[in-house]
Amino acid sequence: MTLTAETGTQETDQSPARTAAADSAPRRPSLSPSRAADFKSCPLLYRFRTIDRLPEKKSRAAVRGTLVHAVLEKLYDLPAAERTVAAAQTLVAPAWDELREEPGVAELFEAPEGEQAESLEAWLASAGQLVETYFRLEDPTRIQPHGREELVEVTLPDGLLLRGYVDRLDVAPTGALRVVDYKTGGMPREAFEAKALFQMKFYALVLWRTRGVVAAQLKLLYLKDGDALTYAPDEAELLRFERTLQAIWAAIERAVATGDFRANKSRLCSWCDHQALCPAFGGTPPPFPADAAAAAGWRTTLPLTVATD
Ligand code: SF4
Repeated sequence: MTLTAETGTQETDQSPARTAAADSAPRRPSLSPSRAADFKSCPLLYRFRTIDRLPEKKSRAAVRGTLVHAVLEKLYDLPAAERTVAAAQTLVAPAWDELREEPGVAELFEAPEGEQAESLEAWLASAGQLVETYFRLEDPTRIQPHGREELVEVTLPDGLLLRGYVDRLDVAPTGALRVVDYKTGGMPREAFEAKALFQMKFYALVLWRTRGVVAAQLKLLYLKDGDALTYAPDEAELLRFERTLQAIWAAIERAVATGDFRANKSRLCSWCDHQALCPAFGGTPPPFPADAAAAAGWRTTLPLTVATD
């Protein structure tokens, strides 16, 4: 078929545009692949991130993911013949100049006294290496993306709003769709492939429901290893996946209605910013913010201190 057209760590693998767009989320609850994954791994983490909206520290790994995404997005602004490794490398510095203005980013490179931090130069070089590895996986001179950092969303008949950002969407002259996602982490072991594909099936479901076409290929590009994971979903599988998302959403709505979000300890706790507030680590969560939840459009049975319309 000719098409024209990030691990176990808390790498976000998001572009700056997507980070900014998160602030313009709709004023009604919706489900994204990352928030669905949060709830599946730890309901309390979901609450802290989505309902309490507690701040989290940025990490160098996550910021590097954002930087590499920005470079690969801008690479496709160039005429096809000019999409070379050298041209891509020249995009790293300006993308970093933009990114470093975001709160909490520049501070990541200020080492505490007495500690030796990885130099900014070495960190930028590691981002450049990931960009270079991308060229081992694809030839961007032969690809004309249909969409980059594209918001895809659909409201299912039961009212559930699904939203997500696709790194790249390719459409063949035949109408065949390919969904591509860049990961700056390593390729997951076989046992974790299903987890990695969760996000891709989410996009495939939204595209199927909005365009009536089942994506021919879901493709995850692992830039650390220079490896790719591809998958071809079918309609029956997307239908089952839709029911899975509806079940997750029903569980989230029940938890919000009662304020009961359980902590679920796992290896992901090592990267969680909220251990001090987590009962699994001897902490106490703040009272459930029922007012904020109601204001954001959630249904809750908990007493409110302010009237909502
Ligand atoms: S520390 Fe672990 S159990 Fe606690 S909220 Fe974070 S992810 Fe959940």
